[in-house]
Amino acid sequence: MNHTDNQRWVLRRRPESAPGPDDLEFVSSPVDELGDEQILVKNLLLSLDPTNRLWMSDRDQYLPPVEIGEIMRGTTIGVVEQSRSDRFDAGDTVLLGEGGWQTHSVAPGSAARRLRPVEGLPLQSHLSVLGMTGLTAYVGLLDICQPREGETLVVSAAAGAVGSVVGQIAKIKGCRVIGIAGGPDKCRWIVDELGFDGAIDYKSEAVGDALDRLCPDGIDMDFENVGGPIMDAVFSRLNKGGRMALCGMISGYNTEGPLAGPTDFGRVLMNRLTIRGFVVIDHLDRSADARRDLVQWITDGKITWKDHIVDGLENATDALSRLFSGAHDGKLLVRVAQ
Ligand code: NDP
Repeated sequence: MNHTDNQRWVLRRRPESAPGPDDLEFVSSPVDELGDEQILVKNLLLSLDPTNRLWMSDRDQYLPPVEIGEIMRGTTIGVVEQSRSDRFDAGDTVLLGEGGWQTHSVAPGSAARRLRPVEGLPLQSHLSVLGMTGLTAYVGLLDICQPREGETLVVSAAAGAVGSVVGQIAKIKGCRVIGIAGGPDKCRWIVDELGFDGAIDYKSEAVGDALDRLCPDGIDMDFENVGGPIMDAVFSRLNKGGRMALCGMISGYNTEGPLAGPTDFGRVLMNRLTIRGFVVIDHLDRSADARRDLVQWITDGKITWKDHIVDGLENATDALSRLFSGAHDGKLLVRVAQ
């Protein structure tokens, strides 16, 4: 019999806009008993991602929505406390793709991945630059955009977890990189510290005018994280043969209904453009390549990143809103336990 309590966030209602206090409930009850081949994991870190908001909605999406009454889905890192799986022992550090917004997860051993620490890098890097974030940037830029030296890339949400890594990889590949971000501090960071060639503060300047100024020869690649008018401004300046890697459309996640595309779709035809949506979970076969290259680039000082850790699982829903206001500095994570 388990005497440990499991604290967790349960979806009570589908939010109509930004998730509020009536949409999710923080509850507690004893941890489930372990079945055959299962492990009990004490979660240490939880990844917060813009897609968490999509999972609360029942719109068409790439995974089933979280059902009402279910624990919020989320990726965690934790320590095995009990094991009935011959793959893991108590004390092992593991990553659970669907550990959930909870202090303790009971999961089949087959759902866990043992973490191989990288010397000098903190544990949370496996949820950020060496995790799905880094893989998204790597696959989206190298495989979907297919950059060539000398080309111009524009990336939106450029100071965010994915965008900041995209821009740095594009610089390594010899591209000219312009980032779109909210506020002077983020714009300064991507230019002064990450080496972007220019930044546009969409909160204080007209994006289209700024793109005309910074990209006088047009744009070859759009790494799209935001959607809406920002996407439209970049799309309408794509050169012949231009590519858009459609990674995210965060500006539309808090409203129901369809996510709008570019205004002048005819440009796809006239300019022979490629728009390709991608979801990182379809590209896990590139994980080893991404990890190898990212570790090398970090070691060489060519890639830097930030993690923003919020303490306490009870603060997870408030913390999630930071992804939509931009009030975070790097990959957003929750420290569930020390
Ligand atoms: P970020 O760390 O980039 O955080 C989100 C950022 O989006 C905020 O910091 C904010 O930056 C910006 N933002 C939020 N709302 C708006 C808005 N209305 N207009 C303009 N900018 C806005 O998060 P991630 O790096 O985790 O995710 C970035 C994007 O990548 C998201 O769209 C996400 O859904 C997508 N994604 C897609 C994956 C895939 O497999 N396709 C995998 C992972 C992420 P600012 O302060 O600059 O406004």
